[in-house]
Amino acid sequence: MGIIIQKFGGTSVADREKLFRAAKIITDAASAGSSVVAVVSAQGDTTDELLKKAAEIGPAPSKRELDALLATGESASSALLAMAVGELGFPAVSLAGWQMGVFTESVHGNAKILRIDTERILSELQKGNIVIAAGFQGTDARNDITTLGRGGSDTTAVALAAALHADACRIYKDVDGVYSADPRLEHGAKKYDVISYDEMLKLAQSGAQVLHIPCIELAKREKVVIEVLSTFEDKPGTVVK
Ligand code: ASP
Ligand code: MG
Repeated sequence: MGIIIQKFGGTSVADREKLFRAAKIITDAASAGSSVVAVVSAQGDTTDELLKKAAEIGPAPSKRELDALLATGESASSALLAMAVGELGFPAVSLAGWQMGVFTESVHGNAKILRIDTERILSELQKGNIVIAAGFQGTDARNDITTLGRGGSDTTAVALAAALHADACRIYKDVDGVYSADPRLEHGAKKYDVISYDEMLKLAQSGAQVLHIPCIELAKREKVVIEVLSTFEDKPGTVVK
């Protein structure tokens, strides 16, 4: 069986219990025979808290240092999730952006991924390891840490799915799919079973926060089918294709 990508957002890895819930989803897929690469966001409000700390230092922090700071959020959550997967008895390694060959433009705070050298990831999968990838981060030609913009871990997941020719790209969230309006605010919002890339882009541009816009554009370009699923309920989500 082939490679699958599973992405867990900040809410889905926010604390010990949720980390183990994500770890269980990962190890179930591995038990079913897939090679799993799981991509994580920073835990809970970590990114906002780090931004707040930077603002305490000065009103206009260096963008290079801001990226170095923000990337620690995903580095921490990937290491914690790898530990949780290990506790369930499965071998796992966390990889930061620079370790897994995510090369970006030299733009801080909003970098585009230029390419992914998949060698390290493939060798870890070959050894039987589950890979827990830090989302949202890469390195540029100067070997400096860059980040992909708020919500950028979704883009990491789709870029990895394209580079690894993955069989599936599953994005786990605290909602159970894509809705015509925010189901927490609007009664009668309708859930899509399937939605096209263009419709999804329209929703995202009108403020739906389900998927990062560059992630949808990349998925459309690379023809990556995305499944948006709930971390907390075992039921079908929305397929974006
Ligand atoms: N942690 C980053 C953010 O909060 C990236 C992400 O969650 O995808 O924007
Ligand atoms: Mg986040």
